[in-house]
Amino acid sequence: MKKDIKSLSLDELKSELIEMGEKPFKAGQIYLWLHKHNVDSFDEMTNISKDLRSNLEKNYDIYTCTIEKKLVSVYDDTVKYLFRLNDGELIESVVMKYKYGYTICVSSQVGCRMGCNFCASGIAGFIRNLTPSEILSQIYVAQKDLSVRISHIVMMGVGEPLDNFDNVIKFLRMISDENGLNIGMRNISLSTCGVVSGIYKLMEEKLQLTLSISLHAPNDEIRSRTMPVNNKWNIDELLSACRDYIKETNRRISFEYAMISGVNDSDACAKELASRLKGMLCHVNLIPVNSVKERDYRKSNKERIVSFIKILEKNGINATVRRTLGSDINASCGQLRRGEK
Ligand code: SAH
Repeated sequence: MKKDIKSLSLDELKSELIEMGEKPFKAGQIYLWLHKHNVDSFDEMTNISKDLRSNLEKNYDIYTCTIEKKLVSVYDDTVKYLFRLNDGELIESVVMKYKYGYTICVSSQVGCRMGCNFCASGIAGFIRNLTPSEILSQIYVAQKDLSVRISHIVMMGVGEPLDNFDNVIKFLRMISDENGLNIGMRNISLSTCGVVSGIYKLMEEKLQLTLSISLHAPNDEIRSRTMPVNNKWNIDELLSACRDYIKETNRRISFEYAMISGVNDSDACAKELASRLKGMLCHVNLIPVNSVKERDYRKSNKERIVSFIKILEKNGINATVRRTLGSDINASCGQLRRGEK
């Protein structure tokens, strides 16, 4: 099998070229073709000799993903892609237009093993991790297809990024490299359902990205009912990891809280949440839960959400209600991939 050249860091590519008896500076040129110009074939690398190109061709593949389906929201230009990978698996990405530019939401795994019971991504279980090149390709292909510059990334698609730690870190370093698309870490958010061991590992990487935590409940009783990960690391352990993370990185943490009618949206829940987050450098994002065909959750109504946010604010917790984009194209949470099966 040929090697996946787009998953190699610049240093790795250099060593491989040296092994092939080539000058290491060629690696820099090849890297630019792959990651700045996003070419899909060695033939397009016009400053690389024919010999080297055919040698590369023999040993490497430039893996990419192909657009299987593309949906454009009539309300807000949100674009949802269903991409097909080399081995036939399907993944999803969403591009959203904001005042400050284009944001892409990328997937990190095919399926998910976390099993949160309001989420469509894990219903069919976990299939495999995405490689760095497969995470990068979502951005390269969407950017080419839309002819826009994507400036922000959220790792909030299908999968648990901290459950695919090494590939995700490699992806983050490559996408923020000046020899690639050079997207600044401050424009990148990574969301986790609360893999505490991964939060500590991420802390050591000292990246200036924004960490989002899918909290969704103010206490263990509710959280364990909806999110199995809470049985492994409970809220106290999770929040203490978050406090350490803030201390180490000086970055504000963002807590995601999907409002589910009758489950986690009472005034008592709001008070409990406020008391747990008190004094933390954080922000709470309230998201009316999306209904998923296979689940019977309903979103909280407007009055409930207003009352909830007022309690948070009165207690000094920064909070906003997330605007939902692409509601006509099932723009969230593994719904498109499910629909294809
Ligand atoms: N596994 C990571 C990354 C996925 S991010 C994580 O859990 O954070 C996707 C976000 O959408 C998470 O916050 C997830 O909890 C949330 N989500 C999943 N299903 C949802 C639904 N039906 N409605 C609203 N948000 C949902």
